Amino acid sequence: MVERNIKYLENITLDEIKGFGEKRLSSFKKHGINNISDLLRFFPKKHIDRSQISKIDSITTDITKEITILGEVTDVSVFTTKTRLRIATLAIKDDTGLIRAKWFGPQYIETRFKKGDSVAISGIPDVKKTGSIEFKNATIEKFSDLEELNETGSLIPIYPKIEGLSSTIIRKGIKEALRRTPKIEDFVSRKELGQYKIIDRISSYNKIHFPDTINEFEDARYRLAFDEFIYLQSIFKEIKETYNKNETGIKHTIKKETLINFEKDIPFKLTNSQKKVINEIFSDMKNSSPMKRLLQGDVGSGKTIVAAAAVYAAINSSHQAVLMAPTEVLAEQHFNSLKKILIFNDVQIYLLTSSVTDRDKIMNTIKDGTPALIIGTHALIQDKVKFNNLGLAIIDEQQRFGVEQRKKLTSSQDKTPHQLVMTATPIPRTTALAIYGDLNLSVIDEMPPGRKTINSILYEGSKEDTEKIYTLCENHLKNKSQIFVVCPFIEESEKIDIKAAENVYKQFKEKFSNYEVEILHGKINSEDKEKIMEDMHNNKIDILVSTVVIEVGIDIHNATLMIIESAERFGLNQLHQLRGRVGRGVKESDCVFHVTDGKNMETITEVGKKRLQAIVENNDGFKLSEIDLQIRGEGKITGTSQSGMSDLKVADIRYDYDILQSSKDYFENNVTTINEALIQEEAKILFPNFSKVEDST
Ligand code: ADP
Ligand code: MG
Repeated sequence: MVERNIKYLENITLDEIKGFGEKRLSSFKKHGINNISDLLRFFPKKHIDRSQISKIDSITTDITKEITILGEVTDVSVFTTKTRLRIATLAIKDDTGLIRAKWFGPQYIETRFKKGDSVAISGIPDVKKTGSIEFKNATIEKFSDLEELNETGSLIPIYPKIEGLSSTIIRKGIKEALRRTPKIEDFVSRKELGQYKIIDRISSYNKIHFPDTINEFEDARYRLAFDEFIYLQSIFKEIKETYNKNETGIKHTIKKETLINFEKDIPFKLTNSQKKVINEIFSDMKNSSPMKRLLQGDVGSGKTIVAAAAVYAAINSSHQAVLMAPTEVLAEQHFNSLKKILIFNDVQIYLLTSSVTDRDKIMNTIKDGTPALIIGTHALIQDKVKFNNLGLAIIDEQQRFGVEQRKKLTSSQDKTPHQLVMTATPIPRTTALAIYGDLNLSVIDEMPPGRKTINSILYEGSKEDTEKIYTLCENHLKNKSQIFVVCPFIEESEKIDIKAAENVYKQFKEKFSNYEVEILHGKINSEDKEKIMEDMHNNKIDILVSTVVIEVGIDIHNATLMIIESAERFGLNQLHQLRGRVGRGVKESDCVFHVTDGKNMETITEVGKKRLQAIVENNDGFKLSEIDLQIRGEGKITGTSQSGMSDLKVADIRYDYDILQSSKDYFENNVTTINEALIQEEAKILFPNFSKVEDST
């Protein structure tokens, strides 16, 4: 049998497939499908299960699983509501009855279907009281000839729409491509296939398209996802090897005493986990190949002190260090907390933001190479800021920056500074591999001693619940504790955020007139902001109402109550971060998740409800990240080219943790037998975005 590999298949252009004329070829090309490999990897978005094909008169109210109706379109109409929502409706009949199917939004169903078309429509039907049956945003597929379906197995593949091509043509093309590819060279040996319980490659391609059973489809998907994770690991391994060969790093002089001296002047003992992580960082920093390390740890695990230790080491070895935060507010917060930690150690610290007045002085310090720590936003590296002695760059990222963005950091001088990336949110391992696979990982997996679990309480937006919250506040205030109130976060406009915060502030000020109530938001000037933070630290403020600016960094041990207003609007990780602002001292702490006024768990969005349920049930940031990923769906995360994750076609980073583990096991434990050359070659073809990054590293 002829053994083909992906590279070979890349070289067979589509015009070699019979039945593909100019027009069809150009439609495929417009969709990025140029050769047999592309075509084989044009995966179906779903399958219609023949055994789930129903007659209309058999549809009952209790159907909860997807079914498929085969029928003929009898009417097409479009309607726009007052709120400018487009609704397209098709009437579809079979020989037993009639249904209606509606699509909301600009899907232009009406341009794709006309009276008389034979269609298969799949979804969960809604049976009205009147007995009429409706499908909403269902999957619909045109069949030029229903007979054609007999050519496929019991599961009919449905492909993403390609302009100008019917599904029939796509299916035929793929069949032909598969026929011409009797075998694909496999990097997994026969023996290993059995060992890892995976099917061979050509079967995976056959069965992802034309499975006979759902199980066959699952096996195919498993194998293809397994391969994708292998490609990622191979690419990242290569990137790491390139880093390690790179000798442009700075060999910092770090001695045993460095950590001992550092620890002498901090107000607590480092946890073992912090020590382990600091030693990993120090060992990288002593090396001539630049460090690329990711520091992960749940909120409150003590990442700041680890960063401080790294800064201390860099400066002690006569270099500059820079700490970048995603926003100015966060940069300021880091400035304040690091100032406190490093003050005893005689470290010069500067904050460089747009509102800073002695800019020139700081710029000069940066230029003349004086060992110091500079804290700022990304403007720090993108501007004309010329470091000449930069030995360490710490990136505190709230969002996830991709491989490409991180790369920019290190390209400014001939010596490459060591790089430490800190994540504010723990990331599930599948995601971590996809986004941060090029970095070495350090994890703080131990909380500082004496942490108490925080009681999470969910309150709805009713009068009674609001009263309960006030009572809770009284209790905390009587106990001489401080309270945070975080206000609705409305994405579109900071102005509206501030207004909402001001309203809440008024309510609390009225209710608690005997106490010190303050407000903090992004538009308050930095001097006042600093004063407020200082007062909060010195227990001069009892209740601090704020917009989300306090999300990261604020660390007040006497704060024991966190109230999150309109909690259903916040992201899950954000809720977890906010909750982590209390429970840091010796006193018992509470976190209240308060649904927007006038709303309750039944009237908020499904997503909001799921998030609130998850947050009150879970304390573990990693677990919450996983849930968050599942709630949000993959689209939002992969929808960008930033990380190259869009190259993952089959693997789903929300659910495929098991597959990742197994592929890791295979990749790491078969070093001697694995066909790495083939994997690398294919990875470059199939993951062009990642490979680009690697080329320019
Ligand atoms: P995060 O990881 O969320 O950035 P921080 O660095 O802000 O956490 O640390 C959270 C709190 O724990 C701070 O008050 C910090 O001073 C304290 N902390 C950190 N490490 C220790 C430790 N080893 N022992 C006691 N407290 C610690
Ligand atoms: Mg922090």
